[in-house]
Amino acid sequence: MKRDSAFAVAREAFRNHTGWERAWANPAPKKRYDVIIVGAGGHGLATAYYLGKNHGIRNVAVLEKGWLGGGNTGRNTTIIRSNYLQDPSAAIYEKARSLYETLSQELNYNIMFSPRGVMMLAQTEHEVRGYRRTAQANALQGVDTEFVDRKRVKELCPIINIDGPRYPVLGALWQARAGTARHDAVAWGYARACSDMGMDIIQKCEVTAVRREGGRVVGVDTTRGPIDCEKLGIVVAGHSGQLAEMAGFRLPIESVALQALVSEPIKPCMDVVVMANTVHGYMSQSDKGEMVIGGGADGYNNYTQRGSFHHVEETVRALVETFPVISRLKMLRWWGGIVDMTGDRSPILSKTPVEGVFINCGWGTGGFKAIPGSGWATAEMIARGEPGPLAAEFSLDRFREGRFIDESVAAGVAH
Ligand SMILES: Cc1cc2nc3c(=O)[nH]c(=O)nc-3n(C[C@H](O)[C@H](O)[C@H](O)COP(=O)(O)OP(=O)(O)OC[C@H]3O[C@@H](n4cnc5c(N)ncnc54)[C@H](O)[C@@H]3O)c2cc1C
Repeated sequence: MKRDSAFAVAREAFRNHTGWERAWANPAPKKRYDVIIVGAGGHGLATAYYLGKNHGIRNVAVLEKGWLGGGNTGRNTTIIRSNYLQDPSAAIYEKARSLYETLSQELNYNIMFSPRGVMMLAQTEHEVRGYRRTAQANALQGVDTEFVDRKRVKELCPIINIDGPRYPVLGALWQARAGTARHDAVAWGYARACSDMGMDIIQKCEVTAVRREGGRVVGVDTTRGPIDCEKLGIVVAGHSGQLAEMAGFRLPIESVALQALVSEPIKPCMDVVVMANTVHGYMSQSDKGEMVIGGGADGYNNYTQRGSFHHVEETVRALVETFPVISRLKMLRWWGGIVDMTGDRSPILSKTPVEGVFINCGWGTGGFKAIPGSGWATAEMIARGEPGPLAAEFSLDRFREGRFIDESVAAGVAH
């Protein structure tokens, strides 16, 4: 693959962009791979990338039932932060955030990482105490966050109504190096790099069964025929329960729709990401000028990729209260994704009861930010056959042993 450069962009501008190569190949499935990854979302593609880059395992296929990045990876509101409370979470999310800083250069693909700063508003005394505690935990974990007062909140985001009709803003947890990135580009960048290493990314190839012999995996059946493998990584977010059932085990996961919406584009008015957990909504402004708005998760399990209407109403009401200037904005698009929720709101990166099958799921409403760190840790686990330091605490055993990694506050509305 030729490297992109300023020169290449200028050259293609003069020849109507006819000289670009395909970003990734479109191969037919082979009969056998060392590793099959199910799911070409960000986590699956990042896992494949680090298998090749960090462990030299390149006989890898990534199987995707739709198009790559068409799941939650292409549906999220792109917030990247690492201000979690518990040590194992801070470690993996901070690893991911730091990898994001240089990912464009590493992949030679502009993922538009924008470390514009993320603030989580404290609108009750309880939240003030909680975020002060998180800031202190983050200091011990080496994650750079601070608790800022309401005056600083107004300076950082002048369009906030800090007096709020119901809940005045009392301060915020601020992470200056947090931000956003272009979600599709993250999937496309990893896909291109994987394809460049000789891996096969096979779209429109749904896994329909997991074949086992004597308690270990030997391959999968797909809509494009059977494929053998030595190891299998299941990385399918909201569809994890279905894949686990095919492999013969159960997961402590619920799949629910989570939704988001964007407004018509307007002039730049906000250069940070703001989350208001008490009133339940969050907002940022995209490079195109649209206000990107995130809402809540449905209270019941479903696979609709839409979400219910009352959440839109509640979210918009919360945000108009927080940012009165948006009260007359028109909303352009509204969509949902199926997120995979665990009881402690922390992910699962684990071996499974089937030898050779590994699972990465449970990122719920907040896994976009984790993609590079999660891929790094999952690749290490698949390559070594055992979880490494980043993944060790996130095993399936924790639900049996009661070792929960409770991130319900950090995960709340905050994505
Ligand atoms: C509305 C919304 C807003 C969000 N906002 C944020 C945010 O701001 N910040 C953040 O960090 N996170 C956010 N998230 C969460 C984040 O999007 C997800 O945690 C993350 O994208 C999960 O990535 P993934 O690669 O695990 O899953 P996905 O991107 O969903 O990829 C899984 C893939 O598996 C494929 N698949 C499923 N079954 C099969 C099968 N049988 N065979 C083959 N392929 C299969 C699917 O088609 C899919 O492409 C949000 C999510 C939503 C829905």
